[in-house]
Amino acid sequence: MATQRTLCIIKPDAVEKGATGQILDRIQREGFRVLGLRQLRLSRRQAEGFYAVHRERPFFDELCTFMSRGPVVVAALERDNAVEHWRRVIGATDPAKAEAGTIRKQFGASVGENAVHGSDSEENGRIECAYFFAGVDLIG
Ligand code: GDP
Repeated sequence: MATQRTLCIIKPDAVEKGATGQILDRIQREGFRVLGLRQLRLSRRQAEGFYAVHRERPFFDELCTFMSRGPVVVAALERDNAVEHWRRVIGATDPAKAEAGTIRKQFGASVGENAVHGSDSEENGRIECAYFFAGVDLIG
């Protein structure tokens, strides 16, 4: 299986809950290399830019308000089959439907406030890592 990159965002709800350390620990236990790691607070425009594919969805405004309400922690991750593996670890979008042992089951509160992000394809993994990290900021 090929080495891929995926982007993890520890969303404002999980940072507020003090779950950052436990989620970073899980990332390491799952065998990801952390190529880049930073904490920042997204501006409204930055949140809108990141979620631009969802701009026609009814929840877009709520999503951007949520994502810009407090700090997030973003991590560029690498591993064999990284995209699918991370999606499995985080679980379904709606925490109520997520399997036991997934991060969203453990820390998510609702379909909107679901603790973490994971890229949904290899191409988006590369694009999303580049949204937050310059090449020079990533471990080679
Ligand atoms: P993901 O790939 O599992 O993150 O899910 P999507 O790409 O479908 O949606 C992106 C993000 O939008 C989700 O992780 C949620 O934070 C948010 N979202 C999705 N559906 C809803 C919804 O019905 N209501 C609200 N408020 N937010 C939603």
